[in-house]
Amino acid sequence: MHSVSLNNAPAVQHITVSNPFDGSIVGTVVTTSADDIGYLLERARRGAQIARRLPRYQRSAILEKAASAVEKNKEEFALLIVREAGKTITQARKEATRCINTLKLSADEAKRNAGEVIPFDSYAGSETRQGWFTREPLGIITAITPYNDPLNLVAHKLGPAIAGGNAVLLKPSELTPLSALRLADVLVESGLPEEIVTVAIGGADLGKALVTARDVRMISFTGGFVTGEAIAKNAGLKKLAMDLGGNAPVIVMENSDFDAAVEGCVSGAYWAAGQNCIGTQRILVQRPIYEQFRTEFVAKTKRLKTGNPLEADTDVGPMIAERAVTRAAAMVDRAISAGATLLCGNKPSGNLFPPTVLENVPSDCDVWKEEVFAPIVLLQPFDKLSDAIEMANSPDYSLHAGIFTNDLEAALDAASRIDAGGVMINDSSDYRFDAMPFGGFKYGSMGREGVRFAYEDMTQPKVVCINRLKT
Ligand code: NAD
Repeated sequence: MHSVSLNNAPAVQHITVSNPFDGSIVGTVVTTSADDIGYLLERARRGAQIARRLPRYQRSAILEKAASAVEKNKEEFALLIVREAGKTITQARKEATRCINTLKLSADEAKRNAGEVIPFDSYAGSETRQGWFTREPLGIITAITPYNDPLNLVAHKLGPAIAGGNAVLLKPSELTPLSALRLADVLVESGLPEEIVTVAIGGADLGKALVTARDVRMISFTGGFVTGEAIAKNAGLKKLAMDLGGNAPVIVMENSDFDAAVEGCVSGAYWAAGQNCIGTQRILVQRPIYEQFRTEFVAKTKRLKTGNPLEADTDVGPMIAERAVTRAAAMVDRAISAGATLLCGNKPSGNLFPPTVLENVPSDCDVWKEEVFAPIVLLQPFDKLSDAIEMANSPDYSLHAGIFTNDLEAALDAASRIDAGGVMINDSSDYRFDAMPFGGFKYGSMGREGVRFAYEDMTQPKVVCINRLKT
């Protein structure tokens, strides 16, 4: 059993974390009421004072040690992810490995990215000046995270924030708080002064209190658009980093490596039961290979095993909760009513949603326009690359896109014309490396994750300028 590490806080409420697969109880955690925000802030203010005085070598050593501790306890972390988030054990192990990398990258960043010399003599008039800028902490950062990557997305906030010398008020998803609490424990066991990271468990009310608090300098949020909009309205004059949803397109051209394209799209569509911000949602296939692609894609989809995420041969685990299943099924039903054809899937059982393929979905359906965040994928034929790019770009927001082709010109043309934070060539949309800049491109896009980029967002430059009077 975990509890919020707050001394003297009058928190008495608990929430129960349950396994999305079988409903069993995974843990019980103490929640913090929005009314008790004063305790959190008091502690975070102390944390910010301590953090800014920690030399870079110490921040780095703590993060490095924490990475080793996660590595040593990797299986425990993976099992926690399976139990609270429902990811398959294979996917959970991968997330734990990525968390180790994120912490190691953060340890490097703490030492690497301290500032720069300013070239004052590059324009006339400032030759007598010499100086530099340093990267200074912001102070207190509120970090709010979603349920679908309950460990690594937390590491993507804590790692760069600690590297930058900040204190963090972390509110993980109330559905999956255990991995975050365990990671915070590991950081403290690795030498992090405990006031630097405060984990508070609760829902929207607590989130709102953490967002509105005057002492907070930045909100680093990962989650859905509706929440992102509420946070932006409530935040006031604070720095915002928003990692929001996707609706990723993948273009498959007739000259692509066919097998790699089918394989990549199947993996991209159903990873984490489709609860993946860069999951492949719309597959646009060039007409001459459309029939063959559809046949192969549906056949491979039907062979996937949906079930117990702890079994090593399970491909698709449960969705997080019944309401997520109901929402996804309603989106499919509306698309079918509007004229789409169901090719397979769409018979949910409990929280298990079998991989589902639709084709000819009208472009005004929400399953085409909105983020589906479920193991549901849409197939659509196209004739010319420009038509596919237009379809790819049709939603108002985007994170990642992919294109399979052996034509370098076409790949580069698509990469330059697709509006996305990342265009993966000969990969599905579902590729992310933790050191690359990661974020959205259109509506709601603010800041980037990927350790170096988050670190830069989470620090502020301070200039020191020396005027040499006797030259
Ligand atoms: P969500 O927006 O419902 O919740 C995210 C977090 O915000 C939770 O901790 C929640 O308690 C908190 N919250 C809710 N209301 C709040 C409020 N008014 N003020 C402050 N905090 C509040 O998202 P979710 O359902 O947990 O996660 C799924 C979403 O996250 C999807 O849209 C997905 O695309 C997105 N996501 C994005 C990325 C990315 O890096 N871009 C990664 C993973 C998930």
